[in-house]
Amino acid sequence: MADPKGFMTTPREEWPRRPVAERVQDWSEVYVPGALLPIISKQADRCMDCGIPFCHDACPLGNLIPEWNDLVSREDWRAASDRLHATNNFPEFTGRLCPAPCEAGCVLAINQPAVTIKNVECAIADRAWTDGFVPPRPPDRLSGRTVAVIGSGPTGLAAAQQLTRAGHTVAVYEKDDRVGGLMRYGIPEFKMEKHHLERRLAQMRAEGTKFRTSTMVGRDVEATELRARYDAVVIATGATAWRELHAPGRELAGIHQAMEYLPLANRVCEGDLEASPMSAAGKHVVIVGGGDTGADCLGTAVRDGAASVTQLDIYAQPGAERDDDTEPWPTYPKIYRLSAAHEEARDLETAPAADADARLFAASTLRFTGDAGGHVRSLHLVEVDEHRRPLPGTGRTIPADLVLLALGFSGPDREDGLIDQLELAMEPRGTIARDRDFATNVPGVYAAGDAARGQSLIVWAIAEGRAVAAAVDRYLRGSSQLPAPITPYDRPMTV
Ligand SMILES: Cc1cc2nc3c(=O)[nH]c(=O)nc-3n(C[C@H](O)[C@H](O)[C@H](O)COP(=O)(O)OP(=O)(O)OC[C@H]3O[C@@H](n4cnc5c(N)ncnc54)[C@H](O)[C@@H]3O)c2cc1C
Ligand code: SF4
Repeated sequence: MADPKGFMTTPREEWPRRPVAERVQDWSEVYVPGALLPIISKQADRCMDCGIPFCHDACPLGNLIPEWNDLVSREDWRAASDRLHATNNFPEFTGRLCPAPCEAGCVLAINQPAVTIKNVECAIADRAWTDGFVPPRPPDRLSGRTVAVIGSGPTGLAAAQQLTRAGHTVAVYEKDDRVGGLMRYGIPEFKMEKHHLERRLAQMRAEGTKFRTSTMVGRDVEATELRARYDAVVIATGATAWRELHAPGRELAGIHQAMEYLPLANRVCEGDLEASPMSAAGKHVVIVGGGDTGADCLGTAVRDGAASVTQLDIYAQPGAERDDDTEPWPTYPKIYRLSAAHEEARDLETAPAADADARLFAASTLRFTGDAGGHVRSLHLVEVDEHRRPLPGTGRTIPADLVLLALGFSGPDREDGLIDQLELAMEPRGTIARDRDFATNVPGVYAAGDAARGQSLIVWAIAEGRAVAAAVDRYLRGSSQLPAPITPYDRPMTV
């Protein structure tokens, strides 16, 4: 650290967001372009180099955070980029999208605001691209072994990049028309502009990774045929089987799953559609589900021009501060967080029937009612206690022309037939079973990411991709130099 007293003299300052009224008029990222670099070296200087950095452990990738904080505080961007890329294939994704469990584990966060680790990571990644520190790194020689990676989300991409760089010939099979998984069709443009994805994909293609899009394994090509054609197969198909809401009126028109709604907005941004056929423009929107997917629906509906947007969360509103007894440092606490979308809803007062940021906490959906044409028009809800028991006298009705269900995901989607064709063993909770080497019950077939772990985060997906690559490399060569940041059994640092 350039200034050993930085943490005492410099207050935490985050990458500023654009004014709400401006940013909801477009789909671009919410941050003020160019406003991060001028502040970031002083922010990195707040790192105390504390000796036992819990941020390492809290980050599933084991990012070398104090090392690159020091390099950024000295403005040695090339070395910072090298240290960052030593553990993370795609820091421009995590620098924008990660909920930053590292910051919850920052030693400074015991009694002060944490170092802005995620912002530092993003600044290094962006600077690395503008200064040309991340050229393609094709392998010196090929191993002569071939690997098929099924699924092009962050897991599949990280696995493919690691295996390609290790000299194997890798083809990524993707059922969608474009590569990227949920980062492409799911996560909205205002959280991460897709040109960041394109830039990485160009790097990967230049390194030799091949992409086969619009190819659903199980339907367009038999999974067993793929196994026979390649020396190893990595299944990284995600966990997109959505949970249903079994409430009276669910069959009414205008009630959709979040993942039916969000990809259409992505397609508008890609230029495939002029307008989304499910647009929220002029509608009263209710989002059922209080998680991040729901927040993405909220930000999208606000940009669509919804008449009102309300988000229902079955859980009670969490407190603003960490409860040191139940969720002590350095775990990732359940606290009240105001995402950019919630900030927009609050400032625009989009939900007069709800709390200030459009959320109704401890709210459970009872039923929907519709008009004569069979279209949903209202949602009936009730307040619940911590055991989800309805509280008498709390029932109410709110207008709802468009209802978006964001209730989470139960495991991999099985409609493609891939799991049955390979006769893969499954866990009781619906994910693909694997041993401590990420190997499934079928020799040479490995499973990683959300498909095996269950719905998680991009940082975990990249860590899974890196770790499964090491396991596959070992299978193909007998040993491996590739890093494996996690095992299949590692879990987030929570209580
Ligand atoms: C709306 C939404 C927002 C999110 N926001 C965030 C966020 O801000 N930050 C964060 O950290 N995490 C976020 N997540 C979670 C994160 O996106 C996932 O944990 C991560 O993408 C999982 O990566 P994956 O590669 O395992 O799977 P996925 O990203 O789901 O990719 C799987 C890929 O496999 C393809 N595929 C599936 N079956 C087949 C087949 N048979 N043949 C060929 N291809 C197939 C799919 O089309 C897909 O492209 C979000 C999730 C959702 C749903
Ligand atoms: S990937 Fe996430 S947890 Fe790891 S350093 Fe970056 S923001 Fe922190």
